Amino acid sequence: MAAGCAFRRALLGGALALGAAPLGAQQPARRLTQAEAQYEPRPRGIAMCAACTLFVRPNLCKQVEGEVAPDGWCKLFDMVD
Ligand code: SF4
Repeated sequence: MAAGCAFRRALLGGALALGAAPLGAQQPARRLTQAEAQYEPRPRGIAMCAACTLFVRPNLCKQVEGEVAPDGWCKLFDMVD
């Protein structure tokens, strides 16, 4: 029994040392390029990055690569409640 625990710990330690994610961990999704997201540097009505849940002030996005403008827009737009 103790040998089994030691074996599992050794496997987990080896996996972590190699940079592997622990079992059950989700891999982060790849961010889209601006072209893939159909990003535009202008709003669509009231839909704009500054009103999106994915916007990170002052000019980044959690789902789209590169800098985005607060008054930009893309197809992933998700309105803040
Ligand atoms: S509208 Fe698109 S680019 Fe802008 S913050 Fe939201 S997801 Fe990112």
